[in-house]
Amino acid sequence: MASEKQKPDLPSAFDAHHPPAIELIEKCVHCGFCLPVCPTYVLWGEEMDSPRGRIYLMKMALEGTAKMTEQWVSHFDACLGCVACMPACPSGVEYGKLIEATRAQIERNYERPAGDKLHRRLLFETFTKPGRLKLLRWPLLAYQKTGLQTALRASGVFKMLPKSLAAMDALLPQVRPTEIVPPVTPAQREKRKRVGLLLGCVQRAFFSQVNAATARVLAAEGCEVVAPLKQTCCGALCVHAGEEAHALELARTTIDVFEQANVEIIVVNAAGCGSNIKEYGHLLRSDPAYAERAKRFATKCRDISEILSELPPWAERKALRARVAFHDSCHLQHAQGVRDQPRALLLQIPGAELLEIPEAPLCCGSAGIYNLVQPEAARELGDRKAKLIAALQADVVVTGNPGCVLQLQSSLAGTNRQIPVVHTIQLLDLSIRGKSLDALR
Ligand code: SF4
Ligand code: SF4
Repeated sequence: MASEKQKPDLPSAFDAHHPPAIELIEKCVHCGFCLPVCPTYVLWGEEMDSPRGRIYLMKMALEGTAKMTEQWVSHFDACLGCVACMPACPSGVEYGKLIEATRAQIERNYERPAGDKLHRRLLFETFTKPGRLKLLRWPLLAYQKTGLQTALRASGVFKMLPKSLAAMDALLPQVRPTEIVPPVTPAQREKRKRVGLLLGCVQRAFFSQVNAATARVLAAEGCEVVAPLKQTCCGALCVHAGEEAHALELARTTIDVFEQANVEIIVVNAAGCGSNIKEYGHLLRSDPAYAERAKRFATKCRDISEILSELPPWAERKALRARVAFHDSCHLQHAQGVRDQPRALLLQIPGAELLEIPEAPLCCGSAGIYNLVQPEAARELGDRKAKLIAALQADVVVTGNPGCVLQLQSSLAGTNRQIPVVHTIQLLDLSIRGKSLDALR
């Protein structure tokens, strides 16, 4: 019989650089309260695809009783990192830190198949580089405007291609004219705050209208808005996928750039980026030059709905009659605990009727690059969410993350209801400018 004494002698499957912490793992009392909110457990009912099962797998690897086999890794690849399990956990298990550490270990110590590796590399080399994303606008525009996209979709060719390619096509954003956010947008009337605006990567390249709306609303509410030209990706996608070294480099640059901008608050309108920046203190904890600065920086970060809830409204909200379905992005509701603030903003709009989407804690399947690397599970979750939304007979769907916008647009395209999906701030901007929903089309 293997005695308890032998366990410490087994080599851990993890290296010594920040393995998932045993004190966090041991907080799990195996109660199972997290199971009903875990999307992968809801889909497949498999213990090892639940938070409790994954924590157990981490413990086994840490103690050397499990190795990083293909199967072991697959349970972590299948995790959306949506952290719905955290608010559901009565023991306060910080699953976000555990999965982040485990993923970094996997990327350093597990040899992925060559095709898988290349696919991931391509995604990171594209999605974390706003300049490269912008270059993609032209071929994408040609693909959409020449009718090639429609023809290929109608031909059924995507059924014969790898699922990841079909997923990529289904998720392509509609290319729209770029709206420029100037480096400084002056406050209208009196200046209440000087804020920095994180422009994001996908947001900057394909949803520039969201950044423009954010700057307009903040200015109308008395904020001077600084959008530093030198800002890069904040590193969110890298952190969530275990690309730690790259994430650290991007986090340091983001801190440097916004410190130089001398702003009181950093406003973020992409939930995935906000949840990442709020954890910079943890990410940079071992870097003597940045650890303290990262902690301070994180406390200055606010989602756009948070900062607007802190400022009593100055700008008049004009009537906008619409049935509005609000989708909670996981990185807003679970990771940042921001649920009431976006709803409160929507309720400020006269004529807007707020509709709650059932199963709100369940992820829509977006989750960073999840819908590109795990297309089948993402599609199942997206279709499930789209059905629930379609039944609400909403005029518009709003949410707080560009990834969710793309995933919901793509999923709703499969229903018989074509509903626009936009960011919360766009609706508030329309109301302040006295425009109707038609301005979104
Ligand atoms: S992060 Fe989401 S998918 Fe992963 S274990 Fe937690 S609830 Fe499940
Ligand atoms: S709810 Fe928390 S303590 Fe209970 S099984 Fe899930 S992670 Fe473990």
